[in-house]
Amino acid sequence: MHNAYTAKAYSAASETSPLTSDTIMRRNTTERDVQIEILFCGICHSDLHQVRNEWGEFMPTVYPCVPGHEIVGKVTKVGPAVSKFKPGDHVGVGCLVDSDHTCPNCEAGLEQFCPNPTFTYNSPDKHLGGVTFGGYSDSIVVDEHFVLRIPENLDLAGTAPLLCAGITTYSPMRRWGVTKGQKVGVVGLGGLGHMGVKFSHAFGAHVVLFTTSPGKKEAALELGADEVVVSRNADEMQKHAGSFDFILDTVSADHDINTYLNLLRRDGNLTLVGAPEKPLAVSAFALLMRRRSLSGSLIGGLAETQEMLDFCGEHNITADVEVIPIQKVNEAYDRLLKSDVRYRFSIDMASLKAA
Ligand code: NAP
Ligand code: ZN
Repeated sequence: MHNAYTAKAYSAASETSPLTSDTIMRRNTTERDVQIEILFCGICHSDLHQVRNEWGEFMPTVYPCVPGHEIVGKVTKVGPAVSKFKPGDHVGVGCLVDSDHTCPNCEAGLEQFCPNPTFTYNSPDKHLGGVTFGGYSDSIVVDEHFVLRIPENLDLAGTAPLLCAGITTYSPMRRWGVTKGQKVGVVGLGGLGHMGVKFSHAFGAHVVLFTTSPGKKEAALELGADEVVVSRNADEMQKHAGSFDFILDTVSADHDINTYLNLLRRDGNLTLVGAPEKPLAVSAFALLMRRRSLSGSLIGGLAETQEMLDFCGEHNITADVEVIPIQKVNEAYDRLLKSDVRYRFSIDMASLKAA
């Protein structure tokens, strides 16, 4: 292909295959494209859901699948019309690499709700055909509108997860007005949950972390939680009944959300960002009794993602990461399923050179 070059990557060949070393095509930069050498890529639980085709009903996985949408790297080349970036800049790419640019959502800066989005992986690739390939790779080429500036003071390995886990927790907290004096709950202390704790703490709220892992208690307090509740303890849960303004649910697996709805005060809101494979059962009474609401949230638009990164720069916020070589990715997936990660795996992509 004359309009493309080869890149190294890790891909899965089927929903039951492990990720293995592969070669993929990337397009040569066109007018508004930025070519990026990928330095770090976070491992989001969505990568695991997608690789294993757990969201088959909504987004069936096309194989081979190269996941990864928490990308940080260095610009290596720019197209002639690129104005925001130059070679050498540190940049980020999240879950979106294109949209139609013209719909009301795009015009409102909410590109994630565009009816024709191009996600970073497993979306139709308008340039090369087939599907897009994500960040478990040594390079990527992206339209400059979908490329973010990284504040200079931030550590790059810990910044990669901000591109998904960061914006996914920042955006609903901004939308629901999380602020000083409010009581905010975060359910689940994984990649998203630990960013939810950091942001709600930074916004000045009283933060309560709900976990199924008693061993994460101390760490949660260090991350900024004011209280930690082990959610399997019904008495401890009951003490908080009817008291929360806002709860962010980041749980990746089946669980009872009614126990959390019951903790909301009048007009309180629970926002789901976790995306379990199967539908969750909702008790009508849990919602009716105090005019509570239940809603969802999907990543964030490009402008808000930049706002979040700049906020992190000002407040020196990054994810707590365990940096791994790409060769450990399958082991990391197994550990993710056991909630055994503190609190995000970040792949050092230099390791791909040896693959
Ligand atoms: P993660 O790091 O695996 O964290 C999930 C956490 O949920 C675990 O650490 C665990 O916390 C808790 N958990 C797991 N299984 C549970 C169970 N059976 N019952 C109760 N709690 C359980 O995953 P993540 O990367 O943060 O992603 C979380 C979810 O958000 C995934 O479904 C992912 O696909 C989704 N997501 C959504 C968006 C969006 O835009 N809406 C963006 C990114 C990711 P404890 O050990 O503390 O209990
Ligand atoms: Zn993600």
